[in-house]
Amino acid sequence: MSSASSAVTPTSLIRTEIQALHAYHVPPSTGFIKLDAMENPYLLPQTLRDEIARMVADAAINRYPDAGAHELKAHIRSVTNLPSGMDVLLGNGSDEIIQVLAMAVAKPGAVLLSVEPSFVMYKMIAAFTGMRYVGVPLTQDFSLDLQATLDAIKREQPALVFLAYPNNPTGNLFDAEAVKRIIEASPGLVVVDEAYYAFASDSFIPQLAHYDNLLVMRTFSKLGMAGLRLGFLAGSTAWLAQLEKLRLPYNVGVLPQLVASKLLQHHDILLAQAASIKQERTRLMSGLSAITGVKAYPSEANFILFRVAKATQIFEGLKQRGVLIKNLNGGHPALTDCLRVTVGTPEEGARFITALQDSINQLA
Ligand SMILES: *Cc1c(COP(=O)(O)O)cnc(C)c1O
Repeated sequence: MSSASSAVTPTSLIRTEIQALHAYHVPPSTGFIKLDAMENPYLLPQTLRDEIARMVADAAINRYPDAGAHELKAHIRSVTNLPSGMDVLLGNGSDEIIQVLAMAVAKPGAVLLSVEPSFVMYKMIAAFTGMRYVGVPLTQDFSLDLQATLDAIKREQPALVFLAYPNNPTGNLFDAEAVKRIIEASPGLVVVDEAYYAFASDSFIPQLAHYDNLLVMRTFSKLGMAGLRLGFLAGSTAWLAQLEKLRLPYNVGVLPQLVASKLLQHHDILLAQAASIKQERTRLMSGLSAITGVKAYPSEANFILFRVAKATQIFEGLKQRGVLIKNLNGGHPALTDCLRVTVGTPEEGARFITALQDSINQLA
C-alpha cells in the first residue's frame, strides 16, 4: 500500500459543497401512468418511425458525429425564427448549456441569481461550478417580485441570471415587462429559459435583437424528444463564439443529430401534439378545480402545480393507484403541500383525476 494514497477518502478529497449536495433523484416509474417528468405522451406516426428506423440502420455510428452539427443547426434555425445575426449553440439537453454558461463566467465570487421556487438545476450547477447562488423569492402567487429582484441585482451584481419562462415548477409565465426591466438592470447575462415554449403564449426570441445581454435557451425534451437529449442556446455570435470553447466537441451524438433533424422537418406533427396537450391542460385544469380542497395554479406549460392538504399522503395514494406525479412537498417552503402533474393524454388525465379524488376521499 502506498502511504501517499492510503489516507485519501471521499470525505477528505471531494469539495465540501459537492458533499453537501443531494444527487438529482429520478424515481423508478415502470408500470406507472407516468406524469412526473413533463414528457410528451404521444408516439410519432408509424410511417415516420419506420423512416427513422431505416435512417438509424444506415447511420455511421463508427464515426464521431459532425462536431458542428451543421444540418441539425440549420433545421433548428429554420423552425425557430431567429432574428438576424443570431445563432445557436447545442447542448446534450439544456442542462448541459446551463453548465457551459456557469463555467464560462465562474470567476472567484461570481454570482448566479434566479428566483424561487424555480428549476433546481440553476442552484445545483452554481454549486458544481463554484458560483455563489442567490435565490430571490417569488410573491405568494408565484409572480416576480420585481422590486426585490432589482434590489438583489443591484446588491449582488450577478454575472448570470436565469428566468424560466414559463417557470418550473409553478407553470406561470412571468410578466414580460418585469422580465425586460430585469434584463435592463442586469450587469451580466440574463438567460430566459424557454423549456416550455411549445405550450406558452409568449417568447423572448424576438427580444434577442434588442438586448445585448440576453440569451434564450430552449430544449426539445418537453416537445417529444426527452430521450434524445437536445437543447439549444440562441443569441448573438459574439457570446456564442466564446461559449463554444466550453462545449465538449462531440456533445450531441450521431443518432440524436440524425433523428432530431428528421423530426424538425416534421415540426408540424410535434406542434399538433403540443396543441392536443394544451387542450388536455384545459380539461385537466377544470377537473382539478372541480375537486374540493384542491387549488390549481394557472399554467402555460405542459404541467399543472396544485396544492392539497396532506400532499405527501395524496402523492402516495396516487402511487398506490398506479399514477406517478411529482411530490414537491418538503422541498422549498413556498411549495408546502404542492404536487405537480404532467399533462398527458385524455385517458391518463381521466385516470389521474379519479385516482386523486379517491385518494382524497380515503383520507377524509
Ligand atoms: C426540463 C427543463 C430543463 C432541462 O431540460 P433538458 O431535458 O436538460 O433539455 C431546463 N429548464 C427547465 C425550466 C426545465 O423545466
